[in-house]
Amino acid sequence: MARKDRDRFQRLQGINPNYIGYRGVDSSTSRSQSTETETIVCSSCQRKRNVEITDLPENINQFVCLGCRESAVHSIPQ
Ligand SMILES: [Zn+2]
Repeated sequence: MARKDRDRFQRLQGINPNYIGYRGVDSSTSRSQSTETETIVCSSCQRKRNVEITDLPENINQFVCLGCRESAVHSIPQ
């Protein structure tokens, strides 16, 4: 990095501490890789699906899998 750029970087960092905020992005990425999944039966197609725990509905009996959700919004143009 050129000296001029480095000075500018340090000035921006002084103004906004979040300027170097890539660390936060990294930690959230590694967290999503270790997300636990649960096997849930879809209430629409009755197939077993592995669902991320963070994606579970409040009532598991009302769970609708991605495939069924996509066919439900099929009329929306992509
Ligand atoms: Zn389904």
